[in-house]
Amino acid sequence: MSKGKRFFKNGLRFECQGDGRCCISRGRYGYVYLSFNDRRRLAKHFSISLSEFTARYTIKSDGLYELKYVDKDCPFLKNNQCGVYESRPWQCRTWPFWPENMDSAVWDQEISARCPGIGRGRLYSAEEIEEILAKKKDVAGIAVSGSF
Ligand code: SF4
Repeated sequence: MSKGKRFFKNGLRFECQGDGRCCISRGRYGYVYLSFNDRRRLAKHFSISLSEFTARYTIKSDGLYELKYVDKDCPFLKNNQCGVYESRPWQCRTWPFWPENMDSAVWDQEISARCPGIGRGRLYSAEEIEEILAKKKDVAGIAVSGSF
């Protein structure tokens, strides 16, 4: 475990409070990447075909699909609530355990300060967090198989 990650060696508590702040664009972090299974699940959510969902809601950038933003925030965010919560993308399911967040300074100054779910709910062990981070790397490459 690198020095910056030692802060979660005893695990971290997190439980979504549903306030939608993680869905609001943070400048350079304003992207929601979609795996094949994310697109398939969301297409089913809207009762449309995969190709229709892809054409209507995504753009492809550097070979990766991401949600198309009409405004600066996620198009599925309505009144600070996720409109597709049960079908939300893997990226959203794994908040706040994202590689760019797992540095003690970033965690303390940005993530804990911003997200009311940090420090609440169940304890995620360091091993679980590492596992999520490892899967996340696969999804960043947009794995087309698996349960993402
Ligand atoms: S899909 Fe839902 S959880 Fe993900 S960023 Fe959009 S509103 Fe938030």
